[in-house]
Amino acid sequence: MTLTGITVAPSGRPSRCGSVLSRLRPGLPISRDTALCLIRCSDDDLPELLEAARAAKQSFKPGVITYSRKVFLPLTNLCRDYCGYCIFRRDPSDPGAHTMTPEEVLNVAREGEKLSCTEALFSLGDKPELLFSEMRETLRHLGYKSTLHYLEAMCELVLRETSLLPHPNPGLLSAEWIARLSRVSPSMGLMLETTNVELLRPGAAHDNAPDKVPAKRLRTLEEAGKQKVPFTTGLLIGIGESTEDRVGTLLAIRNLHERYGHIQEVIVQNFRVKPTIPMAGWPEPSQGEMLRTVAVARLLMPNVNIQAPPNLSAPYYEELLYAGINDWGGISPLTPDYINPEKPWPHLDQLRLRTEANGFKLRQRLPVYPEFLPGVMAKPGLLSDKLHAAVDNQGLARRAA
Ligand code: SF4
Repeated sequence: MTLTGITVAPSGRPSRCGSVLSRLRPGLPISRDTALCLIRCSDDDLPELLEAARAAKQSFKPGVITYSRKVFLPLTNLCRDYCGYCIFRRDPSDPGAHTMTPEEVLNVAREGEKLSCTEALFSLGDKPELLFSEMRETLRHLGYKSTLHYLEAMCELVLRETSLLPHPNPGLLSAEWIARLSRVSPSMGLMLETTNVELLRPGAAHDNAPDKVPAKRLRTLEEAGKQKVPFTTGLLIGIGESTEDRVGTLLAIRNLHERYGHIQEVIVQNFRVKPTIPMAGWPEPSQGEMLRTVAVARLLMPNVNIQAPPNLSAPYYEELLYAGINDWGGISPLTPDYINPEKPWPHLDQLRLRTEANGFKLRQRLPVYPEFLPGVMAKPGLLSDKLHAAVDNQGLARRAA
């Protein structure tokens, strides 16, 4: 097998990881020690690791890879954090600083509806009004007390006026806000990114990013678990963390899911460099690192949805199928990836062709995964009504295949 930049030719020599791989028990989550060994495995051992991960994926959800057809709504790109890898955030005086109006939100959602989108992904900076008087003024003008109040209203607007289902990614949330947003969205998300607190130090990726303190993010994820809100989270690799940190982050997510059962998907996202970010000189993680991390995520959590964005591994994204993903994440036929604007999403026809060429059927899902739907739909109201209208008999999107 030849993978990107890695010519894998098994040497036949027994290796430490080789013996670990031969002792894997299908369906059982691997231990921390096994994960640490596998995430550092040699190129010789990589094919066997990928084979084990792909087999685990097939036991979990055989034959199908899902994606969510979405519109990306950058509600505001003002943010009080300054993550070193972020090209999305703006200060109010920066060119391109913008908070969407309700009319803009609705227009994009309606355009997405025409293209059979079923997800309205709200992405926004974390609590910009705490730092910027301009944002406080914008919110006052719009008639809202905070960015989260405005987000809640925009989720409700999209839910009421269109067939799209909101999936907000607003950063840290209190118990009260998780409860409020869960009334207008079937799922929400917060990337844990990493559990490494060293990345908060001066000059590191999370320097001057108060909302990226791992303990705070874990608290939000835990609160969501207590309220049984289907939650998307994940890790960001290549921002200064070690392979041990990657395993630690995955284990923290697994631990939360074991306690609360609410992690609907784990995203493995790879850092991509951009010329204008503070981390412009930073090396990107290799495709080999990405494949190892995805495979280990699958083996640590054999029965959890594992997602990796195809545009961040283009042009070789189908290799991720070998590593055990079962989902491509949100793909938009309309709006760009505002977080990685230089990496366009693949055309859906291409994605389908390349997924099917590797033996899988591509299916459109809703922003909430099928196994989490019954809990959300059990609460009567507008959200439940909209889900009933959107879902097919397999818990996937009713509209386009
Ligand atoms: S990654 Fe998110 S929290 Fe960090 S600066 Fe960008 S928008 Fe803000």
